[in-house]
Amino acid sequence: MKIFKFGGASINSIDRFKNTGNIIQSFEGEKILIVVSAMGKTTNALESIVSAFFEGNKEEALLLFQQLKNNHLEYLKYLTVTNWKHAENELNNFFTEMEWLLHDKPVRSYDYYYDQIVSCGELLSSSILASHLMDEKQNPIWVDVRDIVRTDNNYRSANIDWKFTQKRIMESVMPLFDNHNIIITQGFIGCTDENENTTLGREGSDYSAAVFANILNADSVTIWKDVDAVMSADPKKFPNAMVIHNLSYNEVIEMAYYGAQVIHPKTIKPLQNKKIPLLVKSFLNPDAVGTIINHELCKNLPPIIVQKENQVLLQFKTLDFSFIEEKTIEKLYELFDGLKLNPVLTQKTAISLWAVFDDVAEKIDELASNASAYFDVELERHLTLITIRHYLKETVDELAKDKVILLEQKTISTIQMLMR
Ligand code: ASP
Ligand code: MG
Repeated sequence: MKIFKFGGASINSIDRFKNTGNIIQSFEGEKILIVVSAMGKTTNALESIVSAFFEGNKEEALLLFQQLKNNHLEYLKYLTVTNWKHAENELNNFFTEMEWLLHDKPVRSYDYYYDQIVSCGELLSSSILASHLMDEKQNPIWVDVRDIVRTDNNYRSANIDWKFTQKRIMESVMPLFDNHNIIITQGFIGCTDENENTTLGREGSDYSAAVFANILNADSVTIWKDVDAVMSADPKKFPNAMVIHNLSYNEVIEMAYYGAQVIHPKTIKPLQNKKIPLLVKSFLNPDAVGTIINHELCKNLPPIIVQKENQVLLQFKTLDFSFIEEKTIEKLYELFDGLKLNPVLTQKTAISLWAVFDDVAEKIDELASNASAYFDVELERHLTLITIRHYLKETVDELAKDKVILLEQKTISTIQMLMR
């Protein structure tokens, strides 16, 4: 049995939806569980709806939601014929669930509402895909992942309850393969034991696919993307970027951790633990070989470059010239954790700790203000962090040319440079 994950770009137009249907059709006879993301930029649109709702702009939230509804209904109309009425009813049920909520006044946390609202993107897209395949006589079955994937209530970054989820998958999902070759479900979302929707973090559908693969002992996971294969750098920024056909789990988890947009960083562990290969393939060119990621060590990799913009550097200096030691570090991490901030790079000197973060402006300002009770805090924004795996001197020199390097860290395989 295989797991496929179709991302937003693979279903961001009616033609692409049909193309996705054709790819699935080409695997006729195989058992496949399909994890779907929200269509195109739907998650971003839903984020705007959450903001409007939370700020009390109910009219705006409803208006934006109406646009989203129209968009999905329009797609459905072109993707289903015989099955259309039934499929429309299903979408309407999700719409009603959301509108009901949008008419309320916000009384709980932003993150809570975020998950209740944003999760609807995947429910809608997967429902449309299932209806389309049904229209194409493929006999898929649609599964509401909220009945299967149980999480805690750490909204927007929920943690999976593996034991419960495993039980549900084995008892309720596995048997569906007796009568169906295709199971369609949602990535990115889950549900608490109190039936509240949760999400696993942006781009979390890859991780959902890996969770299903791990529990179902799948033969492989294929992530269908709009690139022919994984590349050594973002080709839009680095025209010399090279295609890489083989990568190890180890390499990919490092790349993803440093911010490469290949796949969600949490995806690798569940696959590595069961030695399940991960394939990255192009939905635009499904015959291309793509990239295979497995436990085999890869030698002679080219320099792999990950560039992250919008970084902020914070310096925390002790107020009384005491050394940075375990207690001070503990205090700082307590402040980071309190805001769910995770430094991408840290370095310490005698009386200072330097930390680099993605600049989530409100949170960083809050961190700086909270920390100023214990430290002298300085902050510099608008920085770029470049990480190079398997670096060569030429690559480093080239990328550092005309830049001011504020912080640099180097191991035998990786160099990181924070630059202005
Ligand atoms: N739709 C979600 C997002 O855009 C999850 C995903 O695509 O993986 O972040
Ligand atoms: Mg995506």
